Amino acid sequence: MKKTSKKTVTVRKQLKIRLENTLTMRKNTRNFRPTHSIVVTWFKHLNKGLFGNQLPAVPMYLVRMTNDWGRCWANWDNRKCKKGTYDQSVIPYDKTDVSFAIEIHTKYPTFRDFVETLAHEMVHLYQMTVLKDPYSNHNANFYSFKNKFKSAGLTLSRTG
Ligand SMILES: [Zn+2]
Repeated sequence: MKKTSKKTVTVRKQLKIRLENTLTMRKNTRNFRPTHSIVVTWFKHLNKGLFGNQLPAVPMYLVRMTNDWGRCWANWDNRKCKKGTYDQSVIPYDKTDVSFAIEIHTKYPTFRDFVETLAHEMVHLYQMTVLKDPYSNHNANFYSFKNKFKSAGLTLSRTG
């Protein structure tokens, strides 16, 4: 079993307390609409508490979505390439410049739904930027965060 440092436990505990306080404050909020500054603030808290501040600050957009609560995308310029140069299901990190962004839906049933969606998309960002996982989907790399989420009082689910 891998030893978890005392410092890591402390930042996770801080995140858990911050989350509990915010959830208490917003317990009667229905239809929570995040602002860009709330998204940026919670990105920082989650980055510190779950990802050891390893995630880069990427553009974050509030987008009204029909089928998703959130998205994390990798974008690369393959428009000038011959069709079929890249397999679109595999991210070509070593072949070209890839940029990243997170999109967050404009409205959530509760604050918890918002924060768990953001944290979910941040796991994908970790897969893309730290692990350089060519698939960055709901694979073993993704679920390796399950216990970290749990110790911060968050649920890591497939949807989000
Ligand atoms: Zn996902």
